[in-house]
Amino acid sequence: MSKMIHLCLAKMSDTGMEQKYIQEAFDTQWVAPLGPNVDGFEDDLKQFVGEGKEVVALSNGTAAVHMALIACGVGPGDEVITQSFTFCASAHPVTYLGATPVFVDSERDTWNMDPDLLEVAIKDRLTKTGRKPKVILPVALYGMPYQIERIMEIANRYEIPVVEDAAEGFGSRYKGQVLGTFGKYGVLSFNGNKMITTSGGGALICGDRAEWKKVMWLATQARESYPYYQHEVIGYNYRMSNICAGIGRGQMTVLEDHIAHHHHVQSLYEQLLKDVPGVKVHIQPNGSDRGQVPVSQERSLVSDGNLSPVRTPAAPVYDSNYWLTTITLDPALKVKDQENAYKQMVTGAVGGAAGVIHTASTVVTDCQPNANVEAMRLALLAAGVESRPLWKPMHKQPVYRKAPAYVNGVSEGLFKIGMCLPTGPCVTDEHVKHIVNTIKASIL
Ligand SMILES: *Cc1c(COP(=O)(O)O)cnc(C)c1O
Repeated sequence: MSKMIHLCLAKMSDTGMEQKYIQEAFDTQWVAPLGPNVDGFEDDLKQFVGEGKEVVALSNGTAAVHMALIACGVGPGDEVITQSFTFCASAHPVTYLGATPVFVDSERDTWNMDPDLLEVAIKDRLTKTGRKPKVILPVALYGMPYQIERIMEIANRYEIPVVEDAAEGFGSRYKGQVLGTFGKYGVLSFNGNKMITTSGGGALICGDRAEWKKVMWLATQARESYPYYQHEVIGYNYRMSNICAGIGRGQMTVLEDHIAHHHHVQSLYEQLLKDVPGVKVHIQPNGSDRGQVPVSQERSLVSDGNLSPVRTPAAPVYDSNYWLTTITLDPALKVKDQENAYKQMVTGAVGGAAGVIHTASTVVTDCQPNANVEAMRLALLAAGVESRPLWKPMHKQPVYRKAPAYVNGVSEGLFKIGMCLPTGPCVTDEHVKHIVNTIKASIL
């Protein structure tokens, strides 16, 4: 790998556990999409998420979204409410199924699904189509927990299952409870750039053994138990490889270290960027204090009737894993060379995106980050730092221009002013200082 400081590059454990488990797979001839590492990894994940949940290890997080939707009965003509402000994998599996994603915008505190707008959307879909959306799919953007209690209260009231996309939020907690365990299903991703990696992989957290069985069956081509191959429904080849799961088992030994590292890096950014005018670090609603429930949240805890039990009374309401640190730049901030931003065609990938082989057809689009944000990205790149704009909202994506959307301007506004900074396990204090100094030096 290059000397570039990457956003979130995978790092193997110092103890070499990943290689030990892979070697075991070779030694025992378990080079297949099943085996002891897959079972062991699922056990580790189960232990981590806790409270009687079941876990199926899958080939990637997108497959986990796909499986969850199928398990919820989503099919052609159905509608699924998803968060607009997200990576495309929260929406594309809806489209794979011939269903329509209905995009709901974000609230300002967590940048995730706005519960008020969620209810507006449900009511409006009922009026317009006469049918309820089949699933509600909130996303823990950059690891930040969504307002899950309010979302669950609304979902329960309308009897719509929730699929949590916690792909970026592995290890994040809400009132002490791990994300992905509130809804009917929870999606995890172990891509190379997530909290831990299996090189590529994902998992679906299921509520019980029956759900687990259904997902396992669908993910292994939905075979019936006959001596020959009998198929009565369409299945998928989505199981995790025993080699990948070996990496996952090793990575589980450093998950807590990774979370602690991301917290540390986030704190350092908060501290070093505190007094830089026009630059704001996005923090969870209860701030960097991770051991206290703020008063206003305590009140809603009592008044809200429909709560799941609080596991740790002292746990903060929001406890983000801070997968990536995100900042916003005041539109008035002047960044060096910003008059030259968007003058040149971008070739290849930005921000570590792999496999970008399509050449863009235009230098600009009708919805893009401000010139000062693009200039800051280029300044960081010139200083050997990978950064990236925030996710472009799905309702602004050409491919989804016809999809229904309930918007309040929050995600589009943030997309224009925001960017992601490196936080991964390979990012050192010296890197963060270099990044902050580059940011400071780029401001006019
Ligand atoms: C990464 C990601 C996924 C999908 O995970 P893959 O393992 O890359 O398929 C889904 N949703 C979100 C929000 C993600 O960031």
